[in-house]
Amino acid sequence: MDHRIPVVDNKHRITTTQLDLPPRLLLGPGPSNYCNRVRLALSTNEIGHLDPKFIELMNETQELLRYVWQTDNKFTIPVSGTGSAAMEATLANCVEPGDVVLIGVNGYFGDRLCDMALRYGADVRRIHKAWGDVFTPDEIGEAIEQHRPVILGLIHAETATGAMQPMDRIGKLCREFDCLLLLDTVTSLGGAPVFLDRWHVDMAYSGSQKCISCPPGIAPLTLGPRAIEKLNRRKTKVANWYLDMTLVGKYWGAERTYHHTAPVNMNFALREALRIIAEEGLEHRWERHLRNAKALWEGLEEIGIGLHVDEEYRLPSLTAALVPDGVDAKAVIGYLLKNYNIEISGAFGPLAGKVWRIGLMGHNSRKENVVLLLAAIKDALEAA
Ligand SMILES: *Cc1c(COP(=O)(O)O)cnc(C)c1O
Repeated sequence: MDHRIPVVDNKHRITTTQLDLPPRLLLGPGPSNYCNRVRLALSTNEIGHLDPKFIELMNETQELLRYVWQTDNKFTIPVSGTGSAAMEATLANCVEPGDVVLIGVNGYFGDRLCDMALRYGADVRRIHKAWGDVFTPDEIGEAIEQHRPVILGLIHAETATGAMQPMDRIGKLCREFDCLLLLDTVTSLGGAPVFLDRWHVDMAYSGSQKCISCPPGIAPLTLGPRAIEKLNRRKTKVANWYLDMTLVGKYWGAERTYHHTAPVNMNFALREALRIIAEEGLEHRWERHLRNAKALWEGLEEIGIGLHVDEEYRLPSLTAALVPDGVDAKAVIGYLLKNYNIEISGAFGPLAGKVWRIGLMGHNSRKENVVLLLAAIKDALEAA
């Protein structure tokens, strides 16, 4: 064998600078900032993904996830990927070709669920509401009766609009018609009341970078007994190898069999973020999110900025603020970033150019951020 080192092409070998980022305050629809405890957990020394010590930590993370979701579901794990990976995992595992899947579409993320369900061969039916509105239990009940779906998918907290779907009666309706209830809790988990078992939710997912305040890249997923039963009854293999929970479940379950290498340090970070939530207590955390959101809502209205969603359905973690007539939404976003290092976001779809999306999520839901943001927006409007 020839051991001489071959000549390398250095065309792409650029020299770059060491990372040096502006200290942004992330008050958009995610990611949110995370605190130093999470940062330290992320940079902890590495251990193997099958190390007995890591397995101990895995169990703790699962238990803390059950707490934040208020569920006893045995199958409760962090998926290696962002919220969309856990979102896709629910459908990849529980949809078989031809299954009727009914999705409530009242914003962007309902459409994404439809797109994913179609890719797994579902017979997708949609019910629509305007962006910013929510469904009544009667509307859901009628649609279930009409379509007789195997799965009903709803977005609990629609990040595209700032509306929160009330969950009373919906789970019971699903049980009556033997339909599985799938709930997106990405922007509500850790920021607004979520009671999976009380609401009879069968499948749910979330993200790490919204109200959990952990970097993006790991995503909670939970499957209740009825969803697991459907998964075990499948006649066809799960059509996505990476997200096949019959395989991933063996790593998170008793067997601890290798499927893919868990992102070890992301798991440390998530565990720390969940520990912080447990220390604060869900009730206090929800109260804090609501208190700071209310201060933001009042402050915005005082400076002549209206709110898109009715107070009754308004999300505490994400506010859609109406752009005043004659104001360039993008210019204000740019001004806040340039002059205050604050990130807020515009909107898309029917709300594009009409609202700003402001997130007060997890670690960022604090009074000082509200006061600063209101002053910064006022300055931006005066400068415009
Ligand atoms: C952010 C978000 C997702 C997707 O999460 P990613 O981490 O961006 O993949 C899904 N649903 C809702 C409601 C979200 O806000």
